Amino acid sequence: MKVLKFGGTSVGSSKNINSVIHILDNYSKEDTVICVVSAVGGITDKLLLAGTQAQNKDTNFLNTFNTIKEIHLDIINELNPNKSKDILVDVNEQLKTLKSLLDGIYLINELSPKTSDKLVSFGESLSSFIIAKTMKNRGLSARQKNSQHLIITNSNFTKAEVDFNITNSNIKGYFKSASQQITILPGFVANSNLGEQTTLGRGGSDFTAAIVAAALNVKQLEIWTDVSGMFTTNPKLVRQAYPIEKISYQEAMELSHFGAKVLYPPTVQPVLDLNIPIHIKNTLQPEAVGTVISNNASNATRPVKGISNISNVALLTLQGSGMVGIPGFSKRLFETLSQEKINIILITQASSEHSICLGIDESDSHAAKIAIDSAFENEIALKKIDPIIVETGLSIIALVGDNMKNHQGISGKMFSSLGKNNINIRAIAQGASEKNISAVIASNDVKKALNTLHEQFFETQTKQLNVFITGVGNVGERLVEQIKQQKNYLKENLKINLRIIGLSNSKTMIFNDQGIDLKTWKEKLAEGEKASLHGFFEKIKALNLRNSIFVDVTANKDVANLYENYLRQSIGVVACNKIACSNHYQNYSLLKRLSLKYNAPFLFETNVGAGLPIIDTLNNLIASGDKITSIQAVLSGSLNFVFNNFNETTKFHDVVKQAQAEGYTEPDPRIDLSGVDVARKILILARESGVKINLEDIENKPFLSEAGLKSNTVDDFYKTLIEDEAHYQGLFASAKTNNCQLKYVAEFDSGKASVGLQEIPVAHPFYNLKGSDNIVMFYTERYPEQPMIIKGAGAGADVTASGLFADIIRIGNN
Ligand code: ADP
Ligand code: ASP
Ligand code: MG
Repeated sequence: MKVLKFGGTSVGSSKNINSVIHILDNYSKEDTVICVVSAVGGITDKLLLAGTQAQNKDTNFLNTFNTIKEIHLDIINELNPNKSKDILVDVNEQLKTLKSLLDGIYLINELSPKTSDKLVSFGESLSSFIIAKTMKNRGLSARQKNSQHLIITNSNFTKAEVDFNITNSNIKGYFKSASQQITILPGFVANSNLGEQTTLGRGGSDFTAAIVAAALNVKQLEIWTDVSGMFTTNPKLVRQAYPIEKISYQEAMELSHFGAKVLYPPTVQPVLDLNIPIHIKNTLQPEAVGTVISNNASNATRPVKGISNISNVALLTLQGSGMVGIPGFSKRLFETLSQEKINIILITQASSEHSICLGIDESDSHAAKIAIDSAFENEIALKKIDPIIVETGLSIIALVGDNMKNHQGISGKMFSSLGKNNINIRAIAQGASEKNISAVIASNDVKKALNTLHEQFFETQTKQLNVFITGVGNVGERLVEQIKQQKNYLKENLKINLRIIGLSNSKTMIFNDQGIDLKTWKEKLAEGEKASLHGFFEKIKALNLRNSIFVDVTANKDVANLYENYLRQSIGVVACNKIACSNHYQNYSLLKRLSLKYNAPFLFETNVGAGLPIIDTLNNLIASGDKITSIQAVLSGSLNFVFNNFNETTKFHDVVKQAQAEGYTEPDPRIDLSGVDVARKILILARESGVKINLEDIENKPFLSEAGLKSNTVDDFYKTLIEDEAHYQGLFASAKTNNCQLKYVAEFDSGKASVGLQEIPVAHPFYNLKGSDNIVMFYTERYPEQPMIIKGAGAGADVTASGLFADIIRIGNN
């Protein structure tokens, strides 16, 4: 004899019911089969909705009733194209009774738990009837048996407790003489010993099947559902979750108690006593292996078997100095809740006994507050304790595993990875058996927490980075292309799963929390929603993904002003925009502090020398205990271009024009030629060397003519270049006479920095600098004579993009 149970989705459409019938037909060729079915998917909820509407005098209950009716009639017609008449007669009769019940509720506007059970029982009655009749129509030896005549409970409506003595004997008695090959039983429903209709609690069809399996002591119980087993965590919230092949009864019970809806928690108990394995299978994918729950689950594998979550939790905190050392507080608290029939999900008490914290269902929180405050009225009046504190909007997440107790550091890992992702923990509980560690967190952090913990305990090798790029112009576009090209390499070799979740230019922005398709991003972006700097931030915040990184590829002040917001949300910032690091010191140091406090990396390698590893090298020198004594550098690709091309045969004005045309200067060339851009770079290097310094502190010896410096517009500036050609030729001639090259040099020495044009002699490392190359020489305690030199292309879209990419990978490697 075999016992199978099919859930709501499995019997949710004619197509799925056909799969169910196919499975049952095959099984019945070898054995007699008992099949427990749920209501058609979603019907229980609709019945309850209709009931509440009727109770509230809302005539929409009629619409809801009609939807329920349509769903069933459609299924019947689709399953029995030419033979639906008989079934329809019976079903219409049942629907009529249902309608009368709803009319009654409407009339007296009351929906008691007792009536509610009567109402929801229609769901399973209808589904089991339709399936049995359809099978009979198709010539199978099938019959419906009403489980209300077999399963007997007390009168605790909506979640009645089973009287196993009577129930077991009823089930044994009935199946001893049942002659049909396949018996279809409605799940969930039962009768009280007074003959009233009761139910076993939401999700209770699983329990019905377990009760039958245990009463008949069958070899195995099969639960057929819409997923391929019990997963490492809720597959609807974590894409990487996968089915657990074997799991112990205790682990399955803990996971289901803590929210793994795939199994109704009481289901395990009856079969556990008899050692009957539960096999969870997928109706929509019958070939998938599924999960076996038994005593044979090997513990040799991972210590953490699964992670589950309960939402809509409220936390009650009872505290006060009057509680310390006085026995009986907890007892009274628990009794109060028990009298109100409020279930406690989680308990923690600090060892000081100064406070006790309880997790309950949010819907009970109002009743709980009233009951507790009234039970402790005296103590509250005497200020021995405070009125109970109720916090809502919370959820519980739990790590489960029989073998966790034998492994050190699991809770440490759990809490540190949550902390790293800025997930605040409100309360913690660890079962004495150490089969579970649970934490109370804000509900809007649940998805992030589950993904973080899943990555930590089940996908140790790969780290997912969720990247948001703003400013996909020239450099940004290259960055996206480089990421597209390297994605697979990163996954295979560095175990980094890099996804671009958001993209924005100045006009539009797009998001896809599964990762934007990098083949079509341009077209998608063109059709995206209107861009907004704050909107971009708010969206990233709302998505609340772990390892989120905001990449700023703009030169925009307003974007830089938002870094603070990003870091405070534990979102990493990678920027080629220099503004944040080169404006006031307070701002720079605030961002650095926020980065540490919120564990959010803040990287800006490309602020100096584009893709050259200048800041990273500097940071490594300092981190390893070295001290920077001085820095000498040529850091401007544009000024190099200008002075490498300027001589007695060219005109200064023309060379600058050419530099601008070839994209080497800012749109306003004065920013480059005045030395401001270079000053910002040496400022950042000085700050990274540990010096508190501002832009005003940097000595800037300008080489521009008086008029050039004073010019108000770009056009005026270009005019001065023509007028002052002699001034510039003078600079060149002097250098030539001294056998030198002109280079624009940035220097940092003994805490002071300066920038200016210098005549560089032949032997100097700067002399031969070509094109737009940059060079930096670090003199340190370890490199006192021979500096550490970094040299190479210091400008250009490709190298800048690869510098940004390197920062992103740095975050991934950490
Ligand atoms: P049925 O109607 O078949 O009884 P349920 O909806 O009650 O199905 O349970 C299956 C659902 O449980 C899955 O679709 C999934 O959304 C949810 N679920 C939550 N946690 C888990 C988990 N750890 N493993 C599998 N499913 C889970
Ligand atoms: N139909 C009931 C419910 O939705 C029982 C079940 O499906 O297990 O809760
Ligand atoms: Mg279920």
